[in-house]
Amino acid sequence: MLARQAINFGKSATEAAGCSFDISPAHKQLRKNVREFARDEIIPVAAEHDRSMEFPWGIFRKAHGRHLLNTSIGNVDGSAPHDKLAQAIISEEIGYACSGVGLAMFINELSMTPLLIAGDDHQKEQFLRPMAEEPLMAAYCVTESGAGSDVAAIRTKAVRDGDGYILNGTKAWISNGGKASWYFVLARTDFDPSAPAGRAFSAFAVPANTEGIVLGKKEHNMGQRCSDTRMITFEDVRVKEEWRIGEEGEGFKIVMRTFDATRPLVSSMATGLLQRCLDESINFLRDRAQSDGVVDQITQFKLAEMAMNAELSRLMCYKSAAMIDNGSASSYHSSLAKTFAAEKANEAAAHAVEIFGHAGCSEGACVEKLMRDAKIFQIYGGTTQIQKLIISRLLLR
Ligand SMILES: Cc1cc2nc3c(=O)[nH]c(=O)nc-3n(C[C@H](O)[C@H](O)[C@H](O)COP(=O)(O)OP(=O)(O)OC[C@H]3O[C@@H](n4cnc5c(N)ncnc54)[C@H](O)[C@@H]3O)c2cc1C
Repeated sequence: MLARQAINFGKSATEAAGCSFDISPAHKQLRKNVREFARDEIIPVAAEHDRSMEFPWGIFRKAHGRHLLNTSIGNVDGSAPHDKLAQAIISEEIGYACSGVGLAMFINELSMTPLLIAGDDHQKEQFLRPMAEEPLMAAYCVTESGAGSDVAAIRTKAVRDGDGYILNGTKAWISNGGKASWYFVLARTDFDPSAPAGRAFSAFAVPANTEGIVLGKKEHNMGQRCSDTRMITFEDVRVKEEWRIGEEGEGFKIVMRTFDATRPLVSSMATGLLQRCLDESINFLRDRAQSDGVVDQITQFKLAEMAMNAELSRLMCYKSAAMIDNGSASSYHSSLAKTFAAEKANEAAAHAVEIFGHAGCSEGACVEKLMRDAKIFQIYGGTTQIQKLIISRLLLR
């Protein structure tokens, strides 16, 4: 007869190397702080900013004081830059409160990222230091009326002139356009039509008070309305060579790296909106259940779907942010997270409006704003269709 083997009824061998799905105590504390800020400072005024489209300077001044604005750089109070996961947590909580406010805050991080990727010390002092010292805004000028998804089709050009460039062209759909103190601009610098995108474009930071910059009229967006979207025209704008970010011809790559590094912040903002749709629906149904006591099964399924998608969306978003922090940034995971969050935020908004019935359809209803705001997530930062192309190309490569 074989000797009886001792059986370990206790700890598994892999337990110590397990996978943590929790965020650190510091990240939890940050989430608590920003949630309080969003509840006290943004939610009460969000509907009014949506209606008036007034740029929320008051919120930004307070956010800057708590280092919730311009978070990818340090603050004059001595605090260090937030890591990407912390930025995602901030963006999620702001997106919960109002994604119009969130878009304007996000655009600052988007605009600063090229300088963090490829800027020199002098440029960081000139363009980033003021953003640490004051609640200033920046804008990211890439899209043109004939070139959105196809970035390589842009026509804005920077022609060499003495020790700098002359910049001409019109950028469209530029968030923070009328409020920025400087612009990140992508322009063509190689005019050989056969030049590959990876060599044909250059990136610049241009102070907003440079002569020749003309602001277009403010767009009336369907959602995320207080973020000041405009056309920006550059008419014979003299750009110093020292404002070029990276080498001449590197602009397209810098823009693509910037999108990869910032997509987790768009997905987290959409996750915040998704969670808000779920919470508003739960509150509405609890109130209704108290009066007539019934929540039908189809509605219960909608709630369950929203809850599953909020959880998944958050996990994908945190993972893509944490990968950036760990030095393993991944276009694939950033695109997965952005696409999923944008799509599921829209589904959740549609569910929420249906759950509210007529009360969700009227102007001024919270879920009506959420539905208009949600749609925009499928457009900017790379449309859902373009994200799916990126994902499938990476799968097939
Ligand atoms: C509120 C708002 C704020 C914005 N802020 C900024 C900003 O600050 N800075 C900036 O530079 N831009 C900004 N944009 C512009 C945004 O990035 C573009 O709208 C986006 O890239 C899509 O480009 P497009 O609008 O020209 O649409 P198009 O590229 O013309 O696309 C139209 C449709 O065709 C689909 N499509 C296009 N090409 C393909 C393809 N190859 N295969 C399959 N489907 C395709 C798209 O998915 C989309 O559904 C903003 C847009 C909005 C709405």
